[in-house]
Amino acid sequence: MTDDKRPLLEPIPFNFFEEQFHSYKQLSGILAQQPYVSDYAAFISMNHLSPISTLFIDANQRILYINDAGLHQANVSREEVLGQKLEKVLPVHLNDTDFQQIWNDGTATNGWNGTIDYQHTSGESRTQWLKFVHFTAPNGKLAYYGIYFIDNVSIRNTDEVTNHLPYLDSVTHLPNFNQFSYDIHQIEQTALPPECAVALFRCSNLAEIAVLYSKEVRKVVVFEMVNRIQAMLPENYKLYRLSREIFGVFTNPLADMNSFQQLLETIRNKLLEPVITTEQTVFMNIEIGVSSFPEETTSLCTLLEDAEIGLSQHENSKIVYYSKKMTQDFVMSLKTVARLTPAIAKDELEMYYQPLFNHDNEITGAEALLRWHDSELGYIPPNTLIKHAEKHGHISELTYWIFERVFKDKLYETLPNISINIDVTQIEQPNFFQMIQTLVNKHNVDAQSIIFEITEHQAVENSEIGLKVMNQLKALGFRIALDDFGVGHSALALLGTLPVDIVKVDASFITNQTIETTKGIIAKHIVALSKNLQLKTCCEGIETENEAKLAKTINSDYMQGYLFSYPLTVTKFKQFIKDYIISDE
Ligand code: C2E
Ligand code: MG
Ligand code: MG
Repeated sequence: MTDDKRPLLEPIPFNFFEEQFHSYKQLSGILAQQPYVSDYAAFISMNHLSPISTLFIDANQRILYINDAGLHQANVSREEVLGQKLEKVLPVHLNDTDFQQIWNDGTATNGWNGTIDYQHTSGESRTQWLKFVHFTAPNGKLAYYGIYFIDNVSIRNTDEVTNHLPYLDSVTHLPNFNQFSYDIHQIEQTALPPECAVALFRCSNLAEIAVLYSKEVRKVVVFEMVNRIQAMLPENYKLYRLSREIFGVFTNPLADMNSFQQLLETIRNKLLEPVITTEQTVFMNIEIGVSSFPEETTSLCTLLEDAEIGLSQHENSKIVYYSKKMTQDFVMSLKTVARLTPAIAKDELEMYYQPLFNHDNEITGAEALLRWHDSELGYIPPNTLIKHAEKHGHISELTYWIFERVFKDKLYETLPNISINIDVTQIEQPNFFQMIQTLVNKHNVDAQSIIFEITEHQAVENSEIGLKVMNQLKALGFRIALDDFGVGHSALALLGTLPVDIVKVDASFITNQTIETTKGIIAKHIVALSKNLQLKTCCEGIETENEAKLAKTINSDYMQGYLFSYPLTVTKFKQFIKDYIISDE
């Protein structure tokens, strides 16, 4: 296509378009790389009401295009470009609401969509999908028909523009986030909004798929996802592409929550089946978050956000249903960390110590346990505090405080085994080792007396980093204990390979158990195996004489529990040990 470069009779400065269609430059920058752009000079985002349009036809049936110099007439006839089908379009001047309506329903009488065949300047024949709409310009002066089209070649390359298309995802042609917001807004306007629900499906490994295989494979996966979901959706269910990775199934009205849940299970199972392309077999990582109105989400405008909160809590492809409690937890978590920094500054946190005993009831060490009673929030359990601190970026300052407190309390000068718990989120901090090194030097700590406890579960789940960190800590002279051993993923097989010194048998193998019960027998074997591997053992959670007897019978090296002592403040602990014989090993 050529053009005569003549401005229109009434030239319109580019500024006008720039003001109205602020993302023009950005879009034209992206789209200029598309093969068909060279034909038609420019694209434009026609503010929030319109799709990206390549060409315009004005009220006098002239074909126009736009570039930085202004609006131009293209020297080409409408028929030449678009064929006969456009005859169906009626020249109607539209206001915003009408325009919106047309865009929502492109097959309405005053809108049109379909495909056209045309010859590309390269000589290649192409088929284009297009949508034709018309409206009155925002200044009320000009009536345009906007044509939005995507050819098959460009579909393969337009992932980047997905979020710029006002109401339609350019890759899948599904309604997008804007359309979702609009639909929700429409429901909000009704006097009695119906029960409705949204389920978000995220394929979290799309980026990896593109890197590992190719963008083509990623595209196949995206379309497979759309097809699989769509094939299962009954009427009243609408599928959206809300972002590159997230699809939303919206049901309005929600007839029955149980059948919706069943449907989601079926879709989830279908999505977990492999995608077989000509070259690859690919598995999708699927995460699902759901929210429903008015049951859990009380305001329609937060329906999507709440489903996102559900999505953020995902675990192993389980469907997570948003509940009000999740928001409460989120708020609580924010409040906690807001009060944490001042509390650390004022030294309001505490370390408690729980003694460890050997067979002869001598004290051989202590486990340091974090305590925080906040004046407003009350007692925050240590696990919860660690989780919140990590979530909101405060884990390093908390770790620093814990280590420094334990090193300052100097119990390692009296006892040979002082344990500090560490969470994988703490060791993952880039400054972790530097921090330890600094504090060890500052307080002249004897590393031989310090044991770092990491749970077996975390050590196995994060075996790569776990192993690396354990080795680094060992190199500094510290010892390692595997905490809560025996629950969940048992690292029995790993015991021989991990650089561990002590195994702490989880309390669940001790509480209410005897040498005859199944758990008691398992405890006995854990201790025996550990001994064979030259590791020390400790039984946790001993509350009764019988449990202490079990620990002694199975030959555990150390014992810990309320029977002997609750965790104590450092002052009380020092007082407590005065009455006891202290073991030196
Ligand atoms: P853990 O390391 O397994 O600590 C033992 C937990 O059992 C402690 O709970 C302790 O108070 C409790 N306990 C001790 N003896 C008995 C008993 O006889 N019966 C019962 N029912 N419980 C007993 P606590 O202090 O609430 O700590 C819970 C978990 O929080 C700890 O489990 C540990 O994983 C974590 N934690 C505690 N302090 C810290 C810390 O400074 N840093 C990190 N990263 N985690 C910590
Ligand atoms: Mg522990
Ligand atoms: Mg434990």
